[in-house]
Amino acid sequence: MANMRLAGKVVLVTGAASGMGRVAICMFAEQGANVIAADIDERSLHDAVNEVGAAHAEAILPVTGNVAVADDVARMIDAGMDRFGKLNVLYNNAGIMPDEDTSVVETDEATWERVLDVNLKSIYLVCKHGIPHLIEAGGGSVINIASFVALIGCTVPQDAYTASKGGVLSLTRSLAVQYGRHGVRANAICPGPILTPLMETLFASEEEKMKRLDRIPLGRFGRAEDIVWAGVFLASDESAWMTGSQFVVDGGITVNYF
Ligand code: NAD
Repeated sequence: MANMRLAGKVVLVTGAASGMGRVAICMFAEQGANVIAADIDERSLHDAVNEVGAAHAEAILPVTGNVAVADDVARMIDAGMDRFGKLNVLYNNAGIMPDEDTSVVETDEATWERVLDVNLKSIYLVCKHGIPHLIEAGGGSVINIASFVALIGCTVPQDAYTASKGGVLSLTRSLAVQYGRHGVRANAICPGPILTPLMETLFASEEEKMKRLDRIPLGRFGRAEDIVWAGVFLASDESAWMTGSQFVVDGGITVNYF
């Protein structure tokens, strides 16, 4: 117990069924947290929770729902409160990057709105329903997953995605300033390219993969664990004096000029 960094904490993870969210529910539970695992994809969520294993089964509460729909978000949080009695950490990880999201000239309005809803409005909704419980618990930590494309422009356009992640960063700063006096911290993580199902489709060809790899000083794509360790730190009291930050975990891609 002594070396468990999240013992006694209750963490809501959105987008828990795949990629980094899937790894997050596992690592957070291993660090002693109780976890509300939320995702829209019921079947994958079920598989993800099974994967966490019997040792932590009691610590995970799966809840199916859409993070862009207010009633669903309220239900996720209510279910967590009923089961665990409190809420300490909001890990806003759910996100989409659909193929139809390209340049502003090409992208249709429905795609733009869907991306902004899932990637940004979701954080507003989770914070709206979650922050009062964090305050009730005497403080807490909001962790918003942004992206390196919120920091540098990308020649392969995904403009709705990029705009949504820029919004995530500025909303994070605003939350930090507004809720600091209530003991609620808010930080963003900016992952570089991580090999998750979301990215595997984008880097379908070897050529696409190599083009990206060339840009990464550390010479490899990220792993979900690389990001979730930053999440463990931000969720834990070790980061007690950090708020409003954009934690860049990207293999160095954003500092590489050539
Ligand atoms: P992923 O596609 O593997 O997983 C995303 C999960 O979110 C899926 O389980 C999906 O079902 C869920 N989801 C999607 N829409 C939802 C909705 N409306 N309601 C509830 N759940 C929903 O993605 P990933 O690569 O693990 O990415 C996780 C986060 O990290 C995203 O916010 C993404 O934008 C961000 N990110 C990823 C990368 C990368 O290289 N993979 C880089 C930078 C940032």
